[in-house]
Amino acid sequence: MASEFQLIERYFAGRGALREDVVLGVGDDAALLRVPQGMDLAVAVDTMVEGVHFSPEADPESLGHKILAVNLSDLAAMGAEPAWATLALTLPKVDEAWLERFGRGLHTLAQRCRVALVGGDTTRGPLALTVQVHGFVPTGQAIRRGGARPGDLVYVTGCLGDAGLALLVLQEEVRLPGRDRTSVLERLDRPQPRLAQGLALRGLASAAIDVSDGLAADLGHILEASGVGATVQVQRLPVSAALKSVFDAAGGWALPLSAGDDYELCFSVPERRQAELEKAFRDLDVGCTWIGWVERDRGLRCVLDDGSMVVPAAPGYDHFSGA
Ligand SMILES: [Mg+2]
Repeated sequence: MASEFQLIERYFAGRGALREDVVLGVGDDAALLRVPQGMDLAVAVDTMVEGVHFSPEADPESLGHKILAVNLSDLAAMGAEPAWATLALTLPKVDEAWLERFGRGLHTLAQRCRVALVGGDTTRGPLALTVQVHGFVPTGQAIRRGGARPGDLVYVTGCLGDAGLALLVLQEEVRLPGRDRTSVLERLDRPQPRLAQGLALRGLASAAIDVSDGLAADLGHILEASGVGATVQVQRLPVSAALKSVFDAAGGWALPLSAGDDYELCFSVPERRQAELEKAFRDLDVGCTWIGWVERDRGLRCVLDDGSMVVPAAPGYDHFSGA
């Protein structure tokens, strides 16, 4: 008879995309995977814990999506193409309805991003979700954090601050009309990894990072790793119509500058490559906005159009995500 935890395998074995580079998937002591010649393997892992990263009422399908999406976002930031994932689940009890819905969220995104689920583990304990992803990038072409140089232009994809706004909506600090409410909650619960944008940046970006802790904090990581500084023109930061509509109520520039969980890409590009960058992004579903430039003087300077400075909130604040 199948044990409770063998039962769980049914929800995950052989799911996600089918790939020829999976020699052996779920079912043996280890998966066997073949990295194509000429490729480096990029690996990232992330854990989400109930009570720390999400609330007990969180929708399981959204959790399945998000735990994979945040990992894929890290691959996107390296310019890597995703291939495989493993899953480690710690569950307080076996709840088949929960597993079914969690699996649906995970597998739907995995299929769409051509990711094969090649292994996993389940244990009993407080609810915690861990996914590790593996992707490929041509040897030596991964985009690192340390390559930004003075004179480079700083860009960000998509819009910033919506996930932070969603938290304020959930905490009932900000009210939004129905459609805007739905769209910002979607940004928080179902972030879309910017994989196509990451691939487009290969060979173009001098440095890149995904915005998980807030633009100021994450751009700060690029600046530190590169030994440079930057000025960001705060009023150029791209924000959604929903955020614009409640801008002051939501704290003005605080959200796009400091709120986390947006999973956009922030990157630097040498100025002479600007035309190529615009061409590379022309046909993508989500574009990018120029927000500032890299400088020799260390530190991040956030300036308004009138020349006054804005000081970003303390970086990387922890929060209860409503996912
Ligand atoms: Mg990251």
